This record gives sequence, C-alpha cells and structure tokens, in this order.
Amino acid sequence: MERALFEKGISGWEQVTTLPKSFRTMLSERIPWMSLRESIVLESRKKDTKKAILECEDGSKIETVLMQNARGHWSICVSSQVGCAMGCTFCATGKMGFTRNLSTDEIVDQFRFWRSHLDTNLSSGEVGESRNSLISNVVFMGMGEPLANYDAVRDSIVLLLRSTSLGPTRITVSTVGLLPALRKLLADPLWPSVRLAISLHSADAESRKRLMPSSFDSFLDDLVTWTRLYFERNEERRRHLTFEYILLRGVNDREEDARKLLLFSRRVGKVRVNLIPYNSTANDYREMDEKEALRFLLTLKRGGVMATIRKAMGKDIAAACGQLVTRVLSRDRD
Ligand code: SF4
Repeated sequence: MERALFEKGISGWEQVTTLPKSFRTMLSERIPWMSLRESIVLESRKKDTKKAILECEDGSKIETVLMQNARGHWSICVSSQVGCAMGCTFCATGKMGFTRNLSTDEIVDQFRFWRSHLDTNLSSGEVGESRNSLISNVVFMGMGEPLANYDAVRDSIVLLLRSTSLGPTRITVSTVGLLPALRKLLADPLWPSVRLAISLHSADAESRKRLMPSSFDSFLDDLVTWTRLYFERNEERRRHLTFEYILLRGVNDREEDARKLLLFSRRVGKVRVNLIPYNSTANDYREMDEKEALRFLLTLKRGGVMATIRKAMGKDIAAACGQLVTRVLSRDRD
C-alpha cells in the first residue's frame, strides 16, 4: 500500500487497484490521499525553478521549491516545520517565529506533490525541456530547522529511501548545528547515512551569534569536537559533510572572514564549503557582488579547502527560505 503512494499516475485511493474495492472506498472516506493542498505555484522566468505554497489540513502554509539543473535533473527543497524558532537574522522564516513541527506525512507529501506536478506538467509539455519526471535530490533546506524535528525528519528520510529510487547520498539535511541532535544522530542506528550540511555563515563566534541567535560562545570549538566523532564513526561519510556560508555584503564577506573560514575548515579537516549568494529579503542585508564572491572563493581554494559557489536560482519568485510565504501571509492579513 505504501508503494502506491509514490506510484506514477495514481492520484487517489480509488486507483490503488491492488486493494479490495471496499477497502479503497473506506480509505477514500477517511484518509486524505495527500496531507497538503496546492495554494500557489510560481515559476521563474528561466523556467528552471518553481516555488509552491502548500496548505496543511490545519490551514498552516509552508513552502517547497523545485529546481532543474543543467543536466535536466530535478531537485526539491522541503520544509520541516511551520516557521522556525532559530531566528537567523538574514532569513524570512526566522522572522515568522515557530508554529509547529511538520509530520512525517507532511514532509514526504512535499516530494509527492512535486512528483505529481511533474507528471502532470511534463505530459502537457509545460515544464522545461526534460521528459524526466524523476526527482534526483532532496534537500531539507526549506522552512524550519530539520534537527529540531528529529523524529519526523528521520522517518520521512527512511520512507523516501524505502519507497523511491533516491539513495542516501541524494538527500541532504541542512542544520544550524543543533549539537544535542547532531550527537544523537551519531548514536542512532536508525539515522540514514544522508549528507549533512552545517550552516556556518561565520567562523567568528561573535559574528556568528549576531547572525544566528541559536549560536553560543563555544559553538565553533564544540563543532570541531563533534566533527572528529563524526569522522571517527563514519569514515565512509567524510565526503558528505558540508559547511554552508551565505555571503552577506559588508558582514561576513571580507578577506579576514575568508581567512577565518579557511583556518576553521582546516581545523575540521576534510570538509566542503558551499558559498551561497544571498537572496535579498526585506531586511538589512545585501548580496555580495560576483567579483568579490569569487575573490572569497579563491582564498579558500588557494588555502586547500574544497569550495564552490551555489548558483542563484529563482530570485524573481522569492525562492529563498520563507520569502514567499511571508509575503503571502502579510498580503492575507492586509
Ligand atoms: S535559516 Fe533555517 S534555521 Fe535559520 S531561521 Fe531560517 S529556517 Fe530557521
């Protein structure tokens, strides 16, 4: 029955013909096929990014994003909470505050929503050039802190791995670095060997606390200790640890910041740094210009750190975390 939820072309219990008719009717009456309802879907001008606002059964709204890479493969970014308690100062979701955790179904249904969206739109020829409706990557980088909703996030990953063709290296969980949860997952036999991305955003304790109020004085040292344990226990997962670093003009983008990041990355060892161009929201931060971002990247690379700059996608549809939902909620309030 579980597999039917992910089967192409099936859009309701009545179509699950492997089940007896009376059972299908009972399921249709009692259990919604999908826990989320489409509210808005926007597409970028380049047609490589779509952002959806989905409505939960209690009326809460969440965001999820679909992106197509140069090879025509699809990735999705999913939310794990309604709002977020972490309060990162550069993030639109952080300004909303925390409402509640999403359930396992609500997380997995973001995947099912995009699968069904691709099936429908690819057959009508509307989405991009690719005929491939397979989603090849899932990133937990939408609304919320995934590790603050540990059980539902873990269970949703387990379900995706069991019911789709996704492998563990195709799923990334991005976290501000909630150390109790990071320690817990090291000892958790049920935690799948997915990639982890830790949002660093500054290798200076004071500056990081200003950007991320969930940070604290000893965070960076504690993180180094944790990464040692991680590498010790998961030797084969070494390559799966990434630091995310949003480049904010005049805040964490100076040469001195790049050098601090370089030194910190060297302390950790084999880690990949992913520089992220800032997608402006209605707050005080501004994005860095491209030339300066490249200079920052070069400092890291020359120092021997594996580093990349993420391609900015979907700027015209407010694709950064929480941007669209906050606009819609404030519009609904007006
Ligand atoms: S960046 Fe992530 S963890 Fe920070 S406030 Fe936004 S959603 Fe929460």
